[in-house]
Amino acid sequence: MPKILIVEDEEKLARFVELELKHEGYTVDKAFDGRDGLEKMETGGYDLVLLDIMLPGLNGLEVLRRARRTVDTPVIMLTARDSVMDKVTGLDMGAEDYMTKPFEIEELLARIRAALRKTERRAAESKQLACGLLAMDVDRHTVAYDGQAVELTQREFDLLRVLLENKGIVLSRSTLMERVWGYDYMGETNIVDVYVRYLRGKIDDAFGVKLVQTVRGVGYVIRE
Ligand code: CA
Repeated sequence: MPKILIVEDEEKLARFVELELKHEGYTVDKAFDGRDGLEKMETGGYDLVLLDIMLPGLNGLEVLRRARRTVDTPVIMLTARDSVMDKVTGLDMGAEDYMTKPFEIEELLARIRAALRKTERRAAESKQLACGLLAMDVDRHTVAYDGQAVELTQREFDLLRVLLENKGIVLSRSTLMERVWGYDYMGETNIVDVYVRYLRGKIDDAFGVKLVQTVRGVGYVIRE
């Protein structure tokens, strides 16, 4: 279940929200001032933060500004002031949404669900490629088989990426040549075979699978 941090100095309100969130099944932590909130936000690995603006220590906007240097956790600002400025500033600094106090708990819960859904969608859109237990994170430039890291050279990585992006589709040597090396080697496409062998050594042989397959007379395909 998602982990939510409540940064709110009105302890009664914080406890009430905590109770409601726990009732919904969320894991909840609380901070009663800005500094504690910032520290928890930076280190706690939260899925969402409810951040009050008027806080002792550091105010909520300052907490958000500093936290944004290191984490991109979605934040819903809580404000008692009906100040348009605070809301605009908060949203400009990357808050996902805001709630003006006093609020109906049902509305807060709905906003939380919406913010979490948005994060989920974004995560799904980030470049994750996979074939069976083989997974590539393009943004992080990592490859793993069943959670075990696979070390690839840049060229091997690029070749695997093209294969994974076309999972199940047979690609000719010259297509791979062009997409991975950026040009056609004119009859020298056996460099593709060499790199396919490298990949097989590090993936298929290493983990006892047959993902990178040869289609005789045509080319290569990655599939389960
Ligand atoms: Ca407050």
